[in-house]
Amino acid sequence: MAIAYIGLGSNLADPAQQIQNAVYALSKIQQTEIASVSSLYFSRPMGPQDQPDYMNAVAALNTEHTPLALLDALQAIENDAGRIRKDNRWGPRILDLDILLFDSLVIDNERLTVPHYGMKEREFVLLPLAEIAPNLTLPDGESVAVLSENIATKGLKVYGSLRT
Ligand code: ATP
Ligand code: MG
Ligand code: MG
Repeated sequence: MAIAYIGLGSNLADPAQQIQNAVYALSKIQQTEIASVSSLYFSRPMGPQDQPDYMNAVAALNTEHTPLALLDALQAIENDAGRIRKDNRWGPRILDLDILLFDSLVIDNERLTVPHYGMKEREFVLLPLAEIAPNLTLPDGESVAVLSENIATKGLKVYGSLRT
């Protein structure tokens, strides 16, 4: 059994509802259980500013899957939510599910980079992650709590709670 931390994000088609639906979908992944879910956070877009605001959260999963099998399951949930893959990076999306951490594995292949390459610079990842895993350290030894205390919050705020 591994523990995987998943970053959730949406800024289209009722983002708060998209995140709640995604939490429900995560709970239905085979051989996987939700261990904990953060609050729902409101955040300002990264990259192109001419797009709606985001809702974000982080979930911890206990899973028997390999990292790539878990990625397959997450991408199936994104597709079921109606995500259309476009070329413009960081553009609006109905649902984004990223693997932030998978135990303390370091993975770098064509489909998967873990820890997620952007997580240390993203307030909408670090604060919800620190909320559910305050004692967590990254594979390089850095403390999630320290990283989250030192990052600018850029309008990030707790918006509500999520049902598991
Ligand atoms: P960013 O990666 O900057 O958060 P994004 O989440 O919008 O951007 P996507 O379009 O969702 O990017 O994913 C592009 C590709 O990234 C996916 O096809 C997937 O194979 C790859 N990928 C690499 N590492 C990861 C990871 N840790 N979690 C999810 N996808 C990943
Ligand atoms: Mg992403
Ligand atoms: Mg993604």
